[in-house]
Amino acid sequence: MKINRRSFLATGLAAAAGAVAGPAQGRAAEGSSSASSVAVVLATLLDLSKCIGCGACVEGCREANAHRYPEPVKPFPKMYPSRVKAADWSDKRDVDDRLTPYNWLYIQTASGEYDGKPFELNIPRRCLHCQNPPCANLCPWGAASKDGRGIVDINDEICLGGSKCKDVCPWHIPERQTGVGLYLKLAPSFAGNGVMYKCDRCQDRVAAGGTPACIEVCPEGVQTIGPRDDILAQARKLAEETGGFIYGDTENGGTNTFYVSPVPFDVLNQAIEKGPGRPHLASVGNPFTTEDTLARAVYAAPLAGLAAGALHLIRGAASEDDHE
Ligand code: SF4
Repeated sequence: MKINRRSFLATGLAAAAGAVAGPAQGRAAEGSSSASSVAVVLATLLDLSKCIGCGACVEGCREANAHRYPEPVKPFPKMYPSRVKAADWSDKRDVDDRLTPYNWLYIQTASGEYDGKPFELNIPRRCLHCQNPPCANLCPWGAASKDGRGIVDINDEICLGGSKCKDVCPWHIPERQTGVGLYLKLAPSFAGNGVMYKCDRCQDRVAAGGTPACIEVCPEGVQTIGPRDDILAQARKLAEETGGFIYGDTENGGTNTFYVSPVPFDVLNQAIEKGPGRPHLASVGNPFTTEDTLARAVYAAPLAGLAAGALHLIRGAASEDDHE
């Protein structure tokens, strides 16, 4: 489906009536009417003791997803207010030592000393695919969503690039490219400013029964994918047998990515380079454990419920168009 200004606004206005349903109900309705309602939630286990930092996973990701990378229109529209800056990675597509709109996975390296012994560990970093993803829950336009397999995806046909997902992600994972996407058709000088990009754990490949590219090409078998309960049990067993530590099982209320490391994650977090495009490894609590926090979240994203309704209708329209 091609979404234009008229269809987007019409759909959004129509959705206003259903906004009270809220995002949770929107997704439940979507799941109950599709095959995703019976899909098994999948998780990945990354055994950091095995990673040699060869970068095959990064290359595999780039090759598998190159056809989805943004091709921005230049020059970019002038934005108002002028404090809204363009984010342009289109001339830096080769950068592979951080997350960018053209690099959805990279390897972080941590070296130091733990327990009287030196260590060097390589850590493949990407979206963790949270169980309760704030990026999807709080996107004002419902462009981000979680499917029945536990994959969190940003729809590049709906995303306006406003960066809310990046702001609310505890690791600030999504990255924006200006000059591409729906904002160019809607309000090029006032809306969003591009599209947000991140790993979708090779959603199409997984839906077709395949494996994410990064897992398929890894020569060391660092990653394992499978039903979440099984993978979590494997992660706990591995940590217990090796005296290791787990990251991702409780972070942000639980994710669908589990790292197991022989070195504690607070030590790794001290040792890694952090900053834009280079996420931390600090402990992250569950932001939805108290009513106060939830109330703040709703306040921060007043359009989320409306957007979820709009997304539901847009997807419905898309699926109708696809069948025409
Ligand atoms: Fe969303 Fe960040 Fe969680 Fe990924 S890690 S699902 S981008 S909140």
